Amino acid sequence: MENGRQVAVLGGGVIGLSTAVQLLRGGAEVLLVTEAEIGSGASGRSLSWLNAGGGYGEDYYRLRMAGIDRYRTLLARSPGIDWLAFDGGLYWDDDPFAVVDRHNAQSRAGYDARLLDRDDVPAYVPGVDPGVLPHRALVNPGEGWVSLPHLVRHLAEEFTLRGGTLIEHAGLCTLVAADGGGPVRGLRTAGGEEYAADAVVVACGAGTPAVLAGAGVELPDSSDLAMLVISEPVDHGLRAVLNTPRISLRPHPGGRLAMDHTWYLDRVQRLDDGTWSVDLEVLAELAAEASRVLAGHPEVVPQSWQPGLKPVPGDGEPVLGELAALPGCWAAFTHSGATLGLIAGELLADEILTGRRHPLLEPFRAERFAYGEES
Ligand SMILES: Cc1cc2nc3c(=O)[nH]c(=O)nc-3n(C[C@H](O)[C@H](O)[C@H](O)COP(=O)(O)OP(=O)(O)OC[C@H]3O[C@@H](n4cnc5c(N)ncnc54)[C@H](O)[C@@H]3O)c2cc1C
Repeated sequence: MENGRQVAVLGGGVIGLSTAVQLLRGGAEVLLVTEAEIGSGASGRSLSWLNAGGGYGEDYYRLRMAGIDRYRTLLARSPGIDWLAFDGGLYWDDDPFAVVDRHNAQSRAGYDARLLDRDDVPAYVPGVDPGVLPHRALVNPGEGWVSLPHLVRHLAEEFTLRGGTLIEHAGLCTLVAADGGGPVRGLRTAGGEEYAADAVVVACGAGTPAVLAGAGVELPDSSDLAMLVISEPVDHGLRAVLNTPRISLRPHPGGRLAMDHTWYLDRVQRLDDGTWSVDLEVLAELAAEASRVLAGHPEVVPQSWQPGLKPVPGDGEPVLGELAALPGCWAAFTHSGATLGLIAGELLADEILTGRRHPLLEPFRAERFAYGEES
């Protein structure tokens, strides 16, 4: 695509904004349309641990490391921000063999991984009570965290400065395609307004499969319930991200903590009117666990809790790139969209602006699911 052509981005989460900003930097005219406010999807309620330590295949590992690289550049260029940090990660498990296996797999991949005796951990990871640790724990000094609502606002400022057009509260939008399938010609808001575009990016998080299904493309979908809890300000001294058997925990701007886990999800329910019901005991138990693992055991008080869907493609790997069945339509549907937020936007925009497929995205095309006749 020649620079200066019009691109419509559907979805105002981190991936939509990051793609939109990269497109503007490359000279495209960009319209960003989203259901409600920007950042109101998964990007508004994410733990956002920046990592590549989960024992992935080589391609996914490389993409995640590139994702971390872009955050390091952002941090170097934005000294003083309090919403992005690389102060490492600490992992432990009830099963000591799982920790050793994780360490060995990470070391083989060249990931910075140190298996430490319990008493050596505080020197690497301040703010944790070593008394709660098993004999050994795994430290990953290269890991970090980001607050996505802050990043989304940061990207939105650049989006506006570069002349992007933003439409919020557009409701659930649909694609406008030629009869009987692609190419895609634009999008339609819930209110029926149509916007023409030369290319459309669908970055609707857990809503992506529904948007594509409306245009005849079925994507396997394992999106799942998740809930992030943010605390009141607390004197905690924690800088790293903790991943433990009963809680994942990180610092949050304003002296707060952000925390989540999966053990309580059967106590969170979606009601018929679309709102959520949360067993308040869950919040008390999660806050108590945060207090238990922190040095000095400060009182942790939940301030807000946000349940909702977390986008996860059917096979757990990202879906990124133009859809063969819908030319002119790029999909971005991924788990770990915090880690991938910047790199995904950069690579998608590069493909749209240059017309060349990016080799890093080859393993992540939707066609691997062999949908429809075009696959
Ligand atoms: C509790 C939790 C913990 C997480 N932890 C991590 C982690 O530790 N590390 C990590 O890397 N990732 C993590 N993630 C995942 C990461 O946050 C998401 O992958 C990422 O935020 C997804 O961004 P997105 O832009 O794709 O989607 P979203 O942020 O969901 O944005 C999509 C937007 O599209 C809008 N939309 C949907 N359908 C339509 C439609 N039809 N028309 C118009 N607009 C539409 C939505 O309203 C939404 O605003 C976590 C997520 C959660 C919820």
